[in-house]
Amino acid sequence: MKKLLPTSTAGSLPKPSWLAQPETLWSPWKPEGQDLVDGKLDALRLCLDDQLKAGIDIVSDGEQTRQHFVTTFIEHLDGVDFAKREIMKIRNRYEASVPSVVGEVARRKPVFVDDAKFLRQQTSQPIKWALPGPMTMIDTLYDGHYKSREKLAWEFAKILNQEAKELEAAGVDIIQFDEPAFNVFFDEVNDWGIAALERAAEGLKCETAVHICYGYGIKANTDWKKTLGTEWRQYEEVFPKLQKSSIDIVSLECQNSHVPMELIELIRGKKVMVGAIDVATNTIETPEEVAETLRKALQFVDADKLYPCTNCGMTPLSRRVANGKLNALSAGAEIVRRELLAK
Ligand code: ZN
Repeated sequence: MKKLLPTSTAGSLPKPSWLAQPETLWSPWKPEGQDLVDGKLDALRLCLDDQLKAGIDIVSDGEQTRQHFVTTFIEHLDGVDFAKREIMKIRNRYEASVPSVVGEVARRKPVFVDDAKFLRQQTSQPIKWALPGPMTMIDTLYDGHYKSREKLAWEFAKILNQEAKELEAAGVDIIQFDEPAFNVFFDEVNDWGIAALERAAEGLKCETAVHICYGYGIKANTDWKKTLGTEWRQYEEVFPKLQKSSIDIVSLECQNSHVPMELIELIRGKKVMVGAIDVATNTIETPEEVAETLRKALQFVDADKLYPCTNCGMTPLSRRVANGKLNALSAGAEIVRRELLAK
C-alpha cells in the first residue's frame, strides 16, 4: 500500500437479517437452494459497499459466505465427519460438541476461490482474504485418526497452502491466517505452530498476515478475559519467534485491551494491523479514541508499517454498530494521517 495508514478489518462483518439471524455465531442460513447461493453473493456486495462507503482501504468479503471462520473451511474437506461429534474444550476455555477427524484430511476442490474471484470483480481496492490457521483448525476438532496435534496441523497447513495459492491467483492481495489459538498454547506455538503457519504461507508472492486476538465479544471469551489479570502479556510468548518468521503482517488487539502496547516492539520490522476498534462492546469509538490508540502504537511501529484495523471480527455486532465502527476507524486513521503528513 502506498497510502499511509491503510485501514482494514480483522475479518468477519455482520450479515443482513434476511441471510442469517443477526448478532449470533454459527447462525443458520435463512434462504435455501439457489436463493442462498445468490443471497450470499448479494450480501458480499452489500458488505463491500459498506466498507467502501466508510472509506476502508483494504477491503474483504466480510466472511458473508461462511457460517463460521473455522468450521466452514473444514466442512469442505475430506476426512472430517461432522455427524460424529465429541465434546472437547475449545482453547481450554469452553466445551463444545466438535466434529471428528476420521481419516486422511484432503481438499478435493477450492473452498473460497470463486467467492474471492467475485470480490475481485467488484472492486479495484486491495483485498484481504482470511483463512483459519492450522493450529486454530485442529483446536476445534476431535482427532481420531492422526492422534497427534502437530501432525494434523501439518496436514492442514498443506491444504491451506493449496487454497492460499489459488486465492493469490484469483487476485487476493493479502492472505491472512487467523490464529487465536496462538494466544493459548505457547509451547506448541513455538515448537511447531509458527512452522506450520509458515508452511501454510509457503511460496506465496502476495502479502501474508497472521491475526492473533482474544476472540469475539461472546460470553465464553469475556469470562476467560476476566481470568487473565490486569496485564495481558500473552503476545510476549510468541512474538519473538513470529518476528523471525516469514509472515509479513501481524494483526493484533489493542483497543480497550489490557495488552501492554510496548509488546509491539517485539515484532519490530513487521507490518502491524493495530486493532483500534473494540469488537466486544456496542459503544462506537469516537475518531479521537481511535486516533489515540494509533498514536500510542506509533511509539512501537514505524508509520509506514502501521495498518489501522479492528481487534477482531464484527459478526456478533449489529450492522448499525459495525458500520459506525468502520466510520470511526476511517476517521480516526485520517486524523493521525494528517498529523504525520504535517510533520
Ligand atoms: Zn480475532
